[in-house]
Amino acid sequence: MPRTAALFTYPWDLADEGVDRAAARIKELTGIREVQLATSYHISTYFLPHNPKRKVYFGEDGMALWKPEAERYEKLSLKPRVSELVTGDDYYGDLVRGIRKGGLDYGAWMVYCYNHHLARTRPDCARADVFGNANRAQLCPGNPAVRDYARVMTEEVLDRFKPSTVFLESLGYLPFSYGFLNPKVFVEITPRDQFLLGLCFCSHCVRAAAKSGMAAAAFGADLARDLTDRLARNPKPEEKGPVTDVWLSEALDGRLAHYLAARTASATSLYEELAALCHARGARTMDFLPGNEPVSGQNADRVARAGDQFCIDGSHNGTELSKRWPNKEFLYSAQPADMTPDLRARCAAAIASGAHGFTFYNYGLVRDENLRHIGAARDLWA
Ligand SMILES: [Zn+2]
Repeated sequence: MPRTAALFTYPWDLADEGVDRAAARIKELTGIREVQLATSYHISTYFLPHNPKRKVYFGEDGMALWKPEAERYEKLSLKPRVSELVTGDDYYGDLVRGIRKGGLDYGAWMVYCYNHHLARTRPDCARADVFGNANRAQLCPGNPAVRDYARVMTEEVLDRFKPSTVFLESLGYLPFSYGFLNPKVFVEITPRDQFLLGLCFCSHCVRAAAKSGMAAAAFGADLARDLTDRLARNPKPEEKGPVTDVWLSEALDGRLAHYLAARTASATSLYEELAALCHARGARTMDFLPGNEPVSGQNADRVARAGDQFCIDGSHNGTELSKRWPNKEFLYSAQPADMTPDLRARCAAAIASGAHGFTFYNYGLVRDENLRHIGAARDLWA
C-alpha cells in the first residue's frame, strides 16, 4: 500500500497563487499525495515567502474558511465566523476542486476549541477558570453548544467537500496559557498551579462532575481559596514540584482525580462522536498523537481506538506505538525549513523505526528550496 504523504496548506496561499498553478507546483516540487487544507482556523501572523500577493498576513482571530449553509446552523447557538478572505459562496469549494483536478487528495484540517473570536464574543461557551472568569481563547468541549457547533461544522464539511481525511485539532481542553497574546507574566506560577488554573469550571463541567457523584461546587470553592492564597505570594520550594500521576491522584484529598475523570468523559466522548461521524461518511481522521489526558481530557487509548492517523515526531517509535495501538497509522511530521538538507535521511529513519507515512508543514510557510527537499524524499512514499 502506498504511504501517506500530506502537506498542510492554507487556503489563502492557494487562492493568491491560483489553485491550478499551486496544485501543479505542489505536485511537481514535492511529489506529495494529499493536501491538508485549513478549514476552520485560529489566530496567527504568517510570513509567506513565496506568496505572490502578500509576504505577511495578519490572520483573523478564529475563522471559517468556507461559506457555511446557514440553515444547518439555524437552531445552533454557536455559529462559525466566516473569514473576510471568503470572497464568494464557492471560495473553498473551488479550492477543493482545484486540488483534486491537480491530481491530489484533499483533507480538511479543522480547528475546534481554540478560537479567540468565539470565546471572546460568546463567553458563555468559553472555558471558565475556578474563579468564574471566561477564557478569551478557548471554548469548552463540555459545553453542549460547543459540541453541537463541532458536530454540525464537521458534518457540513464532510457532506459538501467530501474530504478523504479530517484533521481533528484542539477538540479537547487546552493548557492554561494556550492562546495568551503578548503575555505579561512577571512572576513564577508553579506547574501545579498552572495546571489547576487550566481546569474548566463552567457550569457544564461542574454539573458533569456533580453528576458523577462528587461535591463539585464545594471542590471548586476550596480550590479557589487555595489558589487565592498561593498566587498572591512567591511559591515555597516544596510547592514547585511537577504535575505527576501521584500528585494528580492525591491532590485535594483525591477530589482532583474525581473531577478530572468527569472532564475526560466529556472530551473523549466528543472525540469519539466526531471520529464516528467521519467514518460514517467514509473519511479517516488525523490528529496529533494523543497524550496528557489530565490536560486535554482525551484518554489516549480511547482516542487511539477511535481515530486512524496520528502525527509523531523524532522522539516517537512507530514500531512501539503499533504494538500499543495496532492497525493505526503513525505519520512522521517533518518541518522542511528546519530539516533541510537532511530531510530525506530523517524521513527514512522514521520509516525504519516503524512510521507509516509523513506530514509536512506547510506549503505557504516555506521556500521553494524547502519544497524541493520534500520532493527529494518522494521515493519513500511512492
Ligand atoms: Zn467547561
